[in-house]
Amino acid sequence: MTHPDTIIFNDLKAQQARIKEGINLAIARVLDHGKYILGPEVCALERELSKYTGAKHVISCSSGTDALLLVLLANNIDNMDAVFIPSFTFVSTAEVVALLGAIPVFVDVNPETFLMDPLSLDQAIRRSKRDGLNPRCIIPVDLFGQTADYEIINEIAEQEKLFVLSDGAQSFGASCKGRIVGTLADATATSFFPAKPLGCYGDGGAIFTDDEDLAFHVRSLRVHGRRTDKYDNVCIGINGRLDTLQAAILIEKLTILDEEMAAKQVIAEHYSDALSRIVKVPVIVKDSVSAWAQYTIQTEHRDMISRVLKSRGIPTAIYYPKPLHLQEAYMKYPRTAEILPVSEKLAECVLSIPVHPYLDPASQDRIIDEIKQAVKSML
Ligand SMILES: *Cc1c(COP(=O)(O)O)cnc(C)c1O
Repeated sequence: MTHPDTIIFNDLKAQQARIKEGINLAIARVLDHGKYILGPEVCALERELSKYTGAKHVISCSSGTDALLLVLLANNIDNMDAVFIPSFTFVSTAEVVALLGAIPVFVDVNPETFLMDPLSLDQAIRRSKRDGLNPRCIIPVDLFGQTADYEIINEIAEQEKLFVLSDGAQSFGASCKGRIVGTLADATATSFFPAKPLGCYGDGGAIFTDDEDLAFHVRSLRVHGRRTDKYDNVCIGINGRLDTLQAAILIEKLTILDEEMAAKQVIAEHYSDALSRIVKVPVIVKDSVSAWAQYTIQTEHRDMISRVLKSRGIPTAIYYPKPLHLQEAYMKYPRTAEILPVSEKLAECVLSIPVHPYLDPASQDRIIDEIKQAVKSML
């Protein structure tokens, strides 16, 4: 039985109601000009995203997964190349590496921030060299909306001559020391999947870089590896374009992103103030601003608490119930050590609670009260 007054985990309908007029007009314009593939809105969006992030080059594409794939393709990542990724992430990060025949090497994360642990990364690099692999690339993930530790990771990458591809699928709009996601690594991939901080009404993604050659190469790969002429193929690419309709929708949504981020920041602070004494609350590193893709607490008895909350009309989600190095499809790949203790522990105790810009104060307080009661009932 569902609770009569169930809170919505991520209220995209409320967002739509707010900008419906603009969205309808934008869609109508596309239907009018009929340039469904690489129409003018695609270029316009790329310009807007470049302005927003400060990244010199922005290439929109078909999804966050394809954004990662296109950058790896452009870097000729293949057979026996080692690519270092955190084990505690969404499967796409490892999938694109494995698809190319390269080796994802799983690294542990920090128990407070959920982000790639530079020490574990360092060990993994040394271990893969010893094992005869060819280290090529690091893919830090901005999990739950907070930027990874790029200062240290970029330094390691420079020493080891590795490419840094940021998986910013959950962090569009976030920043660290005033630098916005899209400018923190050699290249950044983001996703416009509907539930992400900037989402469209279908699949979409983008690549950000200051490297002109890389940008040029990715643009070619996005359309089957063509040169400038449609039927002149210079490399093996994919069909990786963003639909014009989705670009038109994203242009509208980008205009409210900062307000939405600010609203989530207020909610996150309210949660942390109210909950920090009874559960472990997320730690945001100094001088960085999270996009709050998720607000994730850690608690023993996670499963029982989520069940109690559900019965009280509070939806929760578990990102992620199993780290990638323990997934059937990925168990065979190397990792920093036999056990990645933090990733394995997090999978058992993380719980994401509703955090969206349209969550009213009364609902926030109801969520806080129900969590307090649920935790108390477990003691
Ligand atoms: C959502 C997500 C992706 C994949 O994005 P899609 O647009 O769904 O392909 C990749 N990495 C992370 C960390 C994600 O959260």
